[in-house]
Amino acid sequence: MKVRYSYLKQQFSNCDNLWANLKKFVATGDFTLGKELLKFEKNFAKLIGTKYAVGVNSGTDALKLSLKALGVGYKDEVITAANTFVATVGAITELGAKPVYVDCDDTFCLNVKQVQEKITRKTKCIVPVHFTGYMTYMPELMKISKKYRIPVIEDACQSILGEINGKKAGTWGKAGAFSLHPLKNINVWSDGGIITTNDNKLFKNLKLLRNHGLSNRDTVKINGYNSRLDTFQAVVGNWLLPKAKKIALQRIKNANYYDKYLSKINEIDIPPRPKNFKIVYHLYIVFAENRDSLLKYCLKKGIEAKVHYPVPMYLQESQRNLKHKWGDFPVTDSHTKKIITFPCDQHLSKKELNYVIKTVRQFYAKS
Ligand SMILES: *Cc1c(COP(=O)(O)O)cnc(C)c1O
Repeated sequence: MKVRYSYLKQQFSNCDNLWANLKKFVATGDFTLGKELLKFEKNFAKLIGTKYAVGVNSGTDALKLSLKALGVGYKDEVITAANTFVATVGAITELGAKPVYVDCDDTFCLNVKQVQEKITRKTKCIVPVHFTGYMTYMPELMKISKKYRIPVIEDACQSILGEINGKKAGTWGKAGAFSLHPLKNINVWSDGGIITTNDNKLFKNLKLLRNHGLSNRDTVKINGYNSRLDTFQAVVGNWLLPKAKKIALQRIKNANYYDKYLSKINEIDIPPRPKNFKIVYHLYIVFAENRDSLLKYCLKKGIEAKVHYPVPMYLQESQRNLKHKWGDFPVTDSHTKKIITFPCDQHLSKKELNYVIKTVRQFYAKS
């Protein structure tokens, strides 16, 4: 049996009405900052529960433009998680700022207790990453943000509809950055991103920044970027967005099913599942003994398991100038040896889930 990782073929296999929408859209020629984009932004803001949303080129740009709007620039320090996707760090370094890493805990998000010791006079912003669909512990992080008056931009790219205490990712900080990349939970047909905020001034600034700083055809207010979300992709987004809650729910169901059976295997540890968290499982990760052999065994048995990530961001070659070494972030380091990611998306069948569980069980029974 095969359990594939990418479900994109299934995601768009049954979308005749989307094709009809696209056909209508193409006939309008309304391609740049068009009506469908405005509709998507409005609906996205409504889904997350913020006043505003601004569509941009990518999740990376959603972070970069938000940081830029807060004035982050050359030699500023931005506190973020030691284990994240490269894009978080790319957004920071593109502005000439320096990432200051914080170790994560077993929720794969930065350990909020270690943030204060990283704050210096140069700290301009904190970027918690709601990694894998978990949430950074925002109630505590926002206290620190208020105490030191350092704004927070949430990297919510993996956590659309994630919550703590019923409050969603992307509503806690000054702004929330989301990705619409094909590999994310809500995906369009190319790169895409969107920023949520309740701050009217920031909203206006972001709209300028994404469109060359133009306030109208002939007036350049500020130096900006070309980072608009394609209206074509917004049509795709408008088709998918009504399914967002269902998608999250199905992922949660699948994860709960895995948890129930994998937790019975001695060699598997399930990460903490705090009751006040809604985890949306962009990635379903557990801790496994003898991980490398388990991974090989799963691949041999047709299950596309993965590791997110074998080399944490802070140890990548591109970060050499920061002079970090193995051991600087011990929890992140220890995770690299024992984490394994199984497919958990909304298109998996019960049969496939059972096959994953059975295969893991078999592996440990044999060894
Ligand atoms: C995907 C992702 C991004 C960036 O999104 P893109 O749309 O690919 O630019 C940023 N941060 C995290 C944690 C991500 O997973």
